Amino acid sequence: MTPSEQPPEETFCLTCGPDTVLERKGAVLHCPRCGTREPVPDFPLYVVTGASGAGKTTITEPLRRALPGCDVFDTDIILQVATLGWDTWRNTWLRLAHGIALNGRVTILCGSLLPSQLETLPARKLVGPIRFCTLDCPDTVLADRLRRRPSWRGTSTEDAIARHQRFAAWLRAHIQPCYDTSQLTPDETAVRIATWIIRSMDDAGATPPAAN
Ligand SMILES: [Zn+2]
Repeated sequence: MTPSEQPPEETFCLTCGPDTVLERKGAVLHCPRCGTREPVPDFPLYVVTGASGAGKTTITEPLRRALPGCDVFDTDIILQVATLGWDTWRNTWLRLAHGIALNGRVTILCGSLLPSQLETLPARKLVGPIRFCTLDCPDTVLADRLRRRPSWRGTSTEDAIARHQRFAAWLRAHIQPCYDTSQLTPDETAVRIATWIIRSMDDAGATPPAAN
């Protein structure tokens, strides 16, 4: 499939056509031209971000145990989609989160994502509020973890380590809550994240799926 053959985004009005993009108002997608309204799930989407080596992949299994009513993903499982472009990969995750919300479930993505990378994507309007937390550890611990990785992953060179440390510093300064995976076990980290998510869903008035 060449880029020109890609189907149009599904966020346009089926009556008015691909030129008329739907607008989101609360839990409704609304056509500004013909007034068509269609309900859309308003579940929050949760993102557990962090630099490489911060513990995102390790946390997925404990998080599944801590939140059996949510669907937890390591975002790398569809990394081959990124060959179509990083925005396509990120947009695909938003579409999947929307599809999962249609099934009445909340999605948790564990991966190196930033709020600004998601806000401008076409599928952003398909999902409710997006809430971020970050996994962190001291620079020396991050460097040790990355040096122990096999070289094919490309994260164990000193340049790569410095780059991931700078990314970790940015996340530490800008995203809360922040969990130090050098101080907490994966299970302890998962319990803290689960507590944050359940409280956040309570605040949003959503029924926490974990309590079902
Ligand atoms: Zn329309």
